[in-house]
Amino acid sequence: MTQNWRGKAVHVRAPGKINVFLKVGAVMPDGYHDVATAYQAVSLYEDVRAYDADDFSVAFTGSIDSTGLLTDGSNLAIRAARMLAHRAGYRGGVHLEISKNVPIAGGMGGGSADAAATLLACDTLWGTELGREELLGLAARLGADVPFAFTGGTAIGTGRGDRLSPALAKGQFQWVLALATFGSSTPEVYRELDRHRDRHAQDIFPAQTQPTVDADVLQALRAGDPHMLAESLHNDLQAPALHLAPALAQVLEIGEANGALAGIVSGSGPTVAFLAADPDGALELQLALGAARHTVVRVTGPVHGARLIGD
Ligand code: ATP
Repeated sequence: MTQNWRGKAVHVRAPGKINVFLKVGAVMPDGYHDVATAYQAVSLYEDVRAYDADDFSVAFTGSIDSTGLLTDGSNLAIRAARMLAHRAGYRGGVHLEISKNVPIAGGMGGGSADAAATLLACDTLWGTELGREELLGLAARLGADVPFAFTGGTAIGTGRGDRLSPALAKGQFQWVLALATFGSSTPEVYRELDRHRDRHAQDIFPAQTQPTVDADVLQALRAGDPHMLAESLHNDLQAPALHLAPALAQVLEIGEANGALAGIVSGSGPTVAFLAADPDGALELQLALGAARHTVVRVTGPVHGARLIGD
């Protein structure tokens, strides 16, 4: 194939996320569940480089094997670029090179980070200057987690998770991530939760009650206290994720037996995130999980959202 892109790249970096708290409510009329979540952006990044081109294309590199990922119009990054071009009336295209470090279908919002970074990169490359609010509106149309990948930091998400309000957070939390060799389908994990709730009528979330983020999570984030946060980590999707991938229970056990303050399935999984007390604790945990043949990454949070990088 002849190269049809040109010029200097616009480079944008966007983070993956952990849901330190996720409560799932009733199914809404649009088919999505009503959720209340506390997101934290962590230092595992997607790097998107956007080049001027006549049409739309994407190629992947990076630490994650992306060979199974479709690069056609269904790819979230291409969808983001096309949506922005359509909205701005831009008639050209873009070639995207994405260095992927967030696991695919890992519950860490990697595709969402690609979409958020692409919106900002194309807005800059094409000089569309839509402004932050308008870009956030497009982000919400692309997926529930895309607005958060755009804003980063620590935030509360309600509705589908796309209605964001910032949360006060102090300091840096130390996380060790155990990456799985397989992915989880987010809709499938929600379906498993619904099946479980149907089987156990007493667990059904009252349809009229909106889920909220517990006050002790907000307090732990405000205090920057990992011990407090460890006590309040919560994910309603953890049980269905474990049901679909029982091997994750053993990963949680290994981490918790090796000094993790707590472990939690990230979003719909299968990535498991362990909270450590300090950098030394995180290093020890990384070694222990590595010795048990798990692929592990040490990250910190919160970090910034999608932003331009000067190369
Ligand atoms: P979330 O936690 O937001 O539900 P996730 O981290 O579990 O997402 P992603 O890697 O963001 O999962 O993507 C899930 C699916 O979306 C993939 O299985 C893939 O088929 C599709 N997809 C489309 N575009 C991308 C992309 N650029 N990167 C990753 N997956 C993509």
